[in-house]
Amino acid sequence: NPLQGAQFVLAAHRINQLPADEGAEVAFAGRSNAGKSSALNALTGHKGLARTSKTPGRTQQMVAFSLPPIVHGEALPALEARLIDLPGYGYAKVPEALREHWRHEIDRYLHQRRSLRGVVLIVDIRHPLKEFDRMMLEFCLDTELACHVLLTKADKLSRNQASQSLAALRKELPVGTPATAQVFSSADGTGVEDARAAVMRLLEG
Ligand code: GDP
Repeated sequence: NPLQGAQFVLAAHRINQLPADEGAEVAFAGRSNAGKSSALNALTGHKGLARTSKTPGRTQQMVAFSLPPIVHGEALPALEARLIDLPGYGYAKVPEALREHWRHEIDRYLHQRRSLRGVVLIVDIRHPLKEFDRMMLEFCLDTELACHVLLTKADKLSRNQASQSLAALRKELPVGTPATAQVFSSADGTGVEDARAAVMRLLEG
């Protein structure tokens, strides 16, 4: 597993507190409680890497994780690689001012971060494309950033229902969005290998 070497680096409230804007990184975004922390833990194979929580809206920081450097060939210098866990919101419990702060920071981050190669958007398969998700997809469209959607908690549906949800989501993606999508479950491991490959493609792309 190429993501296994992930290590916590720092937590930030503003983008200028993030690690130096060098190398390549992939950002993880999702509404609170969508299953983003569980997805990060499943992808990296570390149970406690990202803190999962039953309290929606608790994760209100950007968290940086370092990965082993990407080596493209002997002649080229190895590339620093990172995962960035973006704060999720979407529940009424998060005060309006805080939502606005994060909306603004995420917007700035996606538009200004040069090392950012793509976004993994975590969406609960039972609640596709809420306002937060549409905003993220629009930001990606705007900035021509690649986006890979993980329709997670697929274990809550039958296989047939899950593939119907995936087909429905693909139709709903805004026209022109450079987005791909797949079914995923942190609970039973569905799609974990494919998602790792997608993250690596983004990082190396
Ligand atoms: P976050 O707020 O997006 O980081 O969400 P968490 O990863 O903390 O997950 C929120 C809740 O959903 C927790 O109770 C998790 O146990 C549950 N959960 C997360 N992923 C899955 C999944 O793939 N399947 C099931 N059944 N539950 C999940």
